[in-house]
Amino acid sequence: VFLCLCAAVSEAEYLKYKDPKQPLNTRIKDLMQRMTLEEKIGQMTQIERKVASPDAMKQYFIGSVLSGGGSVPAPKASAADWMEMVNNIQKASLSTRLGIPMIYGIDAVHGNNNVYKATIFPHNVGLGVTRDPQLIKRIGAATALEVRATGIQYAFSPCIAVCRDPRWGRCYESYSEDHTIVQNMTEIIPGLQGDLPANSNKGIPFVAGKEKVAACAKHFVGDGGTTRGLDENNTVINAKGLFSIHMPAYYDSISKGVSTVMVSYSSWNDKKMHANRDLITGFLKDKLKFRGFVISDWEGIDRITSPPHQNYTYSVQAGVLAGIDMIMVPENFLEFINSLTSLVKSSVIPMTRIDDAVRRILRVKFVMGLFEDPLADPSLAKHLGSQEHRELARESVRKSLVLLKNGKGPNSPLLPLPKKAPKILVAGSHADNLGFQCGGWTIEWQGVHGNDLTDGTTILAAIKKTVDPSTQVVFSENPDASFVKGGGFSHAIVVVGEVPYAEMFGDSTNLTIADPGPSTIKSVCGSMKCVVVVVSGRPVVMEPYVKQIDALVAAWLPGSEGQGVADVLFGDYGFSGKLARTWFKSVDQLPMNVGDAHYDPLFPFGFGLTTPPRHA
Ligand code: BGC
Repeated sequence: VFLCLCAAVSEAEYLKYKDPKQPLNTRIKDLMQRMTLEEKIGQMTQIERKVASPDAMKQYFIGSVLSGGGSVPAPKASAADWMEMVNNIQKASLSTRLGIPMIYGIDAVHGNNNVYKATIFPHNVGLGVTRDPQLIKRIGAATALEVRATGIQYAFSPCIAVCRDPRWGRCYESYSEDHTIVQNMTEIIPGLQGDLPANSNKGIPFVAGKEKVAACAKHFVGDGGTTRGLDENNTVINAKGLFSIHMPAYYDSISKGVSTVMVSYSSWNDKKMHANRDLITGFLKDKLKFRGFVISDWEGIDRITSPPHQNYTYSVQAGVLAGIDMIMVPENFLEFINSLTSLVKSSVIPMTRIDDAVRRILRVKFVMGLFEDPLADPSLAKHLGSQEHRELARESVRKSLVLLKNGKGPNSPLLPLPKKAPKILVAGSHADNLGFQCGGWTIEWQGVHGNDLTDGTTILAAIKKTVDPSTQVVFSENPDASFVKGGGFSHAIVVVGEVPYAEMFGDSTNLTIADPGPSTIKSVCGSMKCVVVVVSGRPVVMEPYVKQIDALVAAWLPGSEGQGVADVLFGDYGFSGKLARTWFKSVDQLPMNVGDAHYDPLFPFGFGLTTPPRHA
């Protein structure tokens, strides 16, 4: 009887931190003073879904879980499957002594792209072309809903890298080589998180409830400036250059209330960013007054040494002392917990540093209402791949296309194409390949080949839907010249480009279109009037072909709604996009960015022809 009474009494105990009416700082303070060192270090640890068993969550008080690229609960998992998976993890966290909810993160970098049937938006390289912050904000809002449709509350987006060299395999995650465009595109943050209330204090993270997600500006800082575009490499630039090119988008992100910032694998002038205390603590936290949390990149702490994981205790010390608050996937999370615990016990890392980290993590969790609404809301599942979001993606595709050439003389435009023609040819490896048009970070980390990955419309399918029913559309992936000449076609659309890639595997020194693209261009464009549509994550070598081509369109990585390409090719809408990157002639010119002294591009930054919409 005595025990029962005790339980009843403790259940009824008033816990300030659980009371949403208490001020934010009171809740944080109240909770912090109840926490043990173990519980605090648990909050700082983010582990992969695959190792996030209920036991691990409970035993180590894990604060956060993530799905790495392509890590899904089951192939083609539904929104309900995702919600169940996330809820199971959450329930384990809620059952701990203090019941602190975990936060679940995912790389939703062009829509909720790991998830089957999600809307796949164009990658950032195409969105920069639109120069339309309000459009990007709507994409952010749609992405937030599609992330919440899976029960997830945190997106590792936006990537605000200023890619200065297209040889970098992550160039397509960057909006532009121009920092002002990247700055304007940070409008995705209020889209993801909601509009920051007027007179909010600068640097305070903000997420407006359960239809919004915590955003993450990444990768701090200089990720897009590495030598020869080498991924995770060294950005050699003086402070003036770093602060005028790579830093400005962080000012905008913080003034828009971004909740988290992810540190870059790269180094600045040979110093690993993950160990850069001056920039993380001195600048981001102290100077810019950022009050959200700083998260490492995946095994970013391990990679402070090269080769990685050489002197782990040193790496933990360097990373945490630099100011990293949450550690994403320590290679071995138990080793991380043990190392950090002993570094604190031996006073190498002061308790104040741990408290700063935990306070920031809890602040985000409180601000976003996770304590009040920790579980997935099934009513949000309907947003995944909704018609409304697909329409928005299609609109984004239309606005992201850049018309680089239109006809062989100014008076002979080829575009827009007539919808009515006896017979047209569609050719090229990228015409009927949903995986290719979505690129990396789609279903799988490195992307997928083919059409069986998720719902969407290929460019070929879109063309077929758009033309007049009397128009015969013949598709041949790589036709030879005699087929082309003898086919009786009025014109051809050739769709070629790059094959999907993502970080670590996407760096390129030659930037060519994938085979058999060059031979397809030759046999088709050498024989008849042709439009070439390039599907790629960056400008690619086109100079050798451009004379032969009648019209040239950069489509970037348009995503699941290929219909947007056909909308513009056939003139229902006009071309409006302007290059947000310099289109080089040859790779020997790289790096070459707008404003450089020896600027001699094939198509300059800002270039883009227009066509009138048919129904203007
Ligand atoms: C990438 C990040 C990403 C993280 C989680 C890392 O390898 O650099 O951009 O958010 O993985 O998947």
